[in-house]
Amino acid sequence: MAGIPMPANGAGDKLLPHELMAERGTHPMETRTCPYCKQEIALDSRKCPHCREWVNRRYAAKRALVWVVPLMVIWLGFMVFGDRIMFREQKYWKHPDAIKITSHTAGQNEEDGRCVIGTMKNMSETPWDMITIQVDYYDATGRLVDTSTDCSSDTLPAGQERSFKVAFESKRRGVEYDHYRVFIAGADDASRF
Ligand SMILES: [Zn+2]
Repeated sequence: MAGIPMPANGAGDKLLPHELMAERGTHPMETRTCPYCKQEIALDSRKCPHCREWVNRRYAAKRALVWVVPLMVIWLGFMVFGDRIMFREQKYWKHPDAIKITSHTAGQNEEDGRCVIGTMKNMSETPWDMITIQVDYYDATGRLVDTSTDCSSDTLPAGQERSFKVAFESKRRGVEYDHYRVFIAGADDASRF
């Protein structure tokens, strides 16, 4: 009978997996068990074809590095430039006129104490705290004979005025206090992170 010649391997004769491997020249024993789904997979598989998990640890680590390295670069960038980009912290030494002493007067504070009381005003747009007020005392010849500071942690909001007092107990006997100079020695940006 004239018919279409059937191939040696009929359509119904499906190769078993190990036969298929043998045909490809791969030894059927070169397999292992997927640690996730316990299915048999090729020894050199990077990804399990059954459960799609990465089964080659070294390869998985390499793939993770592809993400870790750029993330570390971004993180380092934020560490170095973050406060400039995000918080814009103002440095008081860059704005030495941000807080002005608007009035001041010297007073005797108990027996040996001295003090300077006055008012200060925030002339800037930045709220400041940790405001350090310094009073330098001079004798009649203009020689610096004593100094005293007072630091307030209270925030002085932009544009606001507040009183201050720098008091200290003079331990130096016989020192002539002729005049003084009062100034803001430093402050911190209260809006800092
Ligand atoms: Zn698997």
